[in-house]
Amino acid sequence: MNRTPFIAGNWKMNLDHLQAIATVQKLAWTLKDARHDHDDVEVAVFPPFTDLRSVQTLISADKLSIEFGAQDLSQYDSGAYTGDVSGAFLAALDAKYVIVGHSERRTMHGETDEVVAAKTAAAVKHGLVPVVCVGETGEEREQRGAGVVPVEQLRVVLDAVKPSEIVVAYEPVWAIGSGQAATPEQAQEDCAALRRGIAEAWGDDLAASTRVLYGGSVKSGNIAGFLREPDIDGALVGGASLDVQEFAAIARFRQ
Ligand code: PEP
Repeated sequence: MNRTPFIAGNWKMNLDHLQAIATVQKLAWTLKDARHDHDDVEVAVFPPFTDLRSVQTLISADKLSIEFGAQDLSQYDSGAYTGDVSGAFLAALDAKYVIVGHSERRTMHGETDEVVAAKTAAAVKHGLVPVVCVGETGEEREQRGAGVVPVEQLRVVLDAVKPSEIVVAYEPVWAIGSGQAATPEQAQEDCAALRRGIAEAWGDDLAASTRVLYGGSVKSGNIAGFLREPDIDGALVGGASLDVQEFAAIARFRQ
């Protein structure tokens, strides 16, 4: 099964809408300048909500081959949910993707597996492709074994919704923003376990077509090692996605 590699940049709470325009323009030029034929790699950015309209306008006006998505969405469609953003609004902005269950949402905003499942269902309902993040702490991996906690987290989502397309991001908590990435072998173990979990829940065909990403201190110097692993189909990149040259170098991991 051919799974197009996916390089996704999670900007977190960085870059206002003016900086977002400059960054996306520069990214498009950098990918083009390097004559990087990125038809064989999908590149997407995940800016803060307030940037999305500007990014959408730029990408559609200049016909850039960069996708975009949001970093979160509400599990509800509309109503008295101050500060939340509906998947319907993201779909109206032509967002293709939405990140769900990032570990910063789980730890800082108390999002449970059930909330993550409800948000995934909301994304699917509105035609967005969810990028579902799962991952364990170092202690959980040591005590319970590779893949056990991430597969349990994903299972709650898989039992609640069966989308035609989903992206799964394995992000060990200890590797996010720490500068200490998992080894490709460690990441492969967990990504393979996640793919087996998808096969058990949804069957082999969906497991074979679902892209599983690794995330956690990815940079241009370590991306190739991850992408050589059979069950790793790309990366969710945080800090390094804010540096255009570095992010473009990650997207050109084959060169
Ligand atoms: C992330 O926020 O999803 C992430 C992986 O961050 P970083 O690349 O900075 O570790």
